Amino acid sequence: MSDVLLRGGLPWGLGSPADLLVRDGLIHEVGPGLDAPGARVIDITGQLVLPGLVEAHCHLDKTLYGGPWVPHSADDTLAGRIGNDLGRRAELGVPDPGRITALLERMSAAGTTHVRTHTDIDPQVGLRGVEAVREAAARVPVEVRQVAFPQHGVLTNPGTAELLEEALKSGVEAVGGLDPAGIDRDPVRHLDVIFGLAERYGAHVDIHLHDGGTLGGWELELIIERTRALGLGGRVAVSHAYALGQLDEAAQDRLAQGLAEAGVALVTAAVYNFPVPPVKKLRAAGVTLACGHDGIRDLWGPYGSGDLLERAMHLAYRSTFRRDEDIELALEAATTGGARLLGLRGYGLKPGDRADLVVLPCGGAAEAVVVHPARTLVMKDGTVLHN
Ligand SMILES: [Zn+2]
Repeated sequence: MSDVLLRGGLPWGLGSPADLLVRDGLIHEVGPGLDAPGARVIDITGQLVLPGLVEAHCHLDKTLYGGPWVPHSADDTLAGRIGNDLGRRAELGVPDPGRITALLERMSAAGTTHVRTHTDIDPQVGLRGVEAVREAAARVPVEVRQVAFPQHGVLTNPGTAELLEEALKSGVEAVGGLDPAGIDRDPVRHLDVIFGLAERYGAHVDIHLHDGGTLGGWELELIIERTRALGLGGRVAVSHAYALGQLDEAAQDRLAQGLAEAGVALVTAAVYNFPVPPVKKLRAAGVTLACGHDGIRDLWGPYGSGDLLERAMHLAYRSTFRRDEDIELALEAATTGGARLLGLRGYGLKPGDRADLVVLPCGGAAEAVVVHPARTLVMKDGTVLHN
């Protein structure tokens, strides 16, 4: 692989223009006026350079992306959406490795280099989703990690816990959960199963928590306690956590502190009109905050483009951020926050980091989020993918 010299870009956070020399898949040198005989030189003068985007929460297995448009057919209730999902999977051929591949290619072209996806596991679909995602991921230069996700409950859906275990045995990296109270009606037993599997298989945990208000707040406390007791800090996340956006300031402060101290991360998608966790408060407390699309063009809803910067814009907008330094928090969620969530090594724009990066015709981070223009260049492990 020949060296690549990116000339005159604006590496995010550096504060001044610099060249980046890429060698053997790594960022070799960063600085002004670099000399690199024999390198392929690409002029990116005045353009923003970001580390690869990290899509921290999506559902690749469910997607209809890349196929013909499917008019959405669920009514506007959770039960309606679940019924729509289960009822039409077979008719539409979900999960489909071809559609998943199309979506991953779109994500890659938009600068995403890492993806964490929640894959449905239940007695109907078994591990077919896991296999479809693996098949697609092998075709596209994006690193994909899966969460074995009990979309239709664990305790309320017999056979699911055993299949979650099968998925972990087969190498799936994380185990998911879903509304331990609202869906499974028994939060302690739900967490016993999920955390038990995580301990046994050294897996990460990422729990969908839609339960709102004080019920959701109490479940967050249970997850914090569990994480502390088992010493799993840095390996546990809660997705959505709508309750955090609904509780009063004092409760938010207490939970933010608890999440930070226990090492429990939050993942938000800022979709529809669901409450968004208080981004500034959580970051100020030191909570790892990551961002993802949630569903992309599937039987749960027709939206989602695969462009994570567009999703970061929604997060900033829903958080009513106007100032550059606030909007930049959404970009952090889509990059460094996701990298921390996944425990990525060598992530960033320093010499020695992996050369996973994206270049945009922007002067700074806030503009990248608000405008999210077409990407000039995407690089994965030193290979120029889109230019
Ligand atoms: Zn989700």
